[in-house]
Amino acid sequence: MNRSTTRKIVLEEHFTTPAIAAYATDVVAMVDPSFSKYVGPRLLDFEAMRLADMDKNGIDMCVLSANSPGVQLEPDGVVAVRAAREVNDVLGGYIAKHPKRFSGFAHLAMQNPKEAAAELERCVKHLGMKGALINGHTLGEYYDAEKFWPVWERAEELGVPIYLHPADPTSTPATVEGYPEMFGPGFAWGAETAGHALRIIYGGVFDRFPKATLILGHMGETLPYILWRLDSRYAMMRHKQEIKKRPSEYIRENIMITTAGVFSPEPLLCAIQALGSDRIMFSVDYPYEYSEQAVEFIDNAPISDTDREKICHGNVEQLLGL
Ligand code: MN
Repeated sequence: MNRSTTRKIVLEEHFTTPAIAAYATDVVAMVDPSFSKYVGPRLLDFEAMRLADMDKNGIDMCVLSANSPGVQLEPDGVVAVRAAREVNDVLGGYIAKHPKRFSGFAHLAMQNPKEAAAELERCVKHLGMKGALINGHTLGEYYDAEKFWPVWERAEELGVPIYLHPADPTSTPATVEGYPEMFGPGFAWGAETAGHALRIIYGGVFDRFPKATLILGHMGETLPYILWRLDSRYAMMRHKQEIKKRPSEYIRENIMITTAGVFSPEPLLCAIQALGSDRIMFSVDYPYEYSEQAVEFIDNAPISDTDREKICHGNVEQLLGL
């Protein structure tokens, strides 16, 4: 296998702090305690294991984010706002200490959209962050709702993206009931997150905020694969409200995707054909995935070296101004 020297910046890379670790219900732990033992210490670590892993695998920079679900599950809005600030201060400290190795996405308490918008601005202007990563819905509310528009508005003004990361749906969908292997990353998260992104499109968020950028991990949570079907059925079905463009146009123009957690060439080639190589960014999903496997995949993917450069670093440098 080849090992390229292409510069690599990754952007779905997680950490936790003792304060927000308690929100996580570890689906993986139920079936594989050894994997949980691997992940746990790596989520809490910023320097010893993480920097060594980056060095070993030729990863130049990590854009870090708080582990799912974080404060998205906090029922008390005041507590959520305070906890998010604390998490962001911790991350900001590590970015200041290692500015060439770490950047970050803000953790936002969407329980209070005005506070979340202000916190996004604080993180971008004062803590070296480049956007926000939000772990799915907050207490069952999705970000197409007008109450969340202050956050979209501020992100657009600041010129920073919002990364929509998977989280559990509010209740277990009937389709996966009784099949733990379909919970979470096994299947349910992808459907939940793709659905959330479609709500944001169909709710008119990108008509209202046309310069807003949403990032999806996991090779776009299957959306690149179904563009034609989305458009063809949209044309013949009733709409909640009218939007200005076809669904696929928003996916191509307002959404960018990462390779986090999907290390096989077929979906990458589909995504390049569907969205263009300018819209795809390499990521690992550390520590839930192995950096070595991610790097081996992208270094050997059957794509042009021009596309590899864009996907490994060029697109994210442009998007985040790195
Ligand atoms: Mn992830």
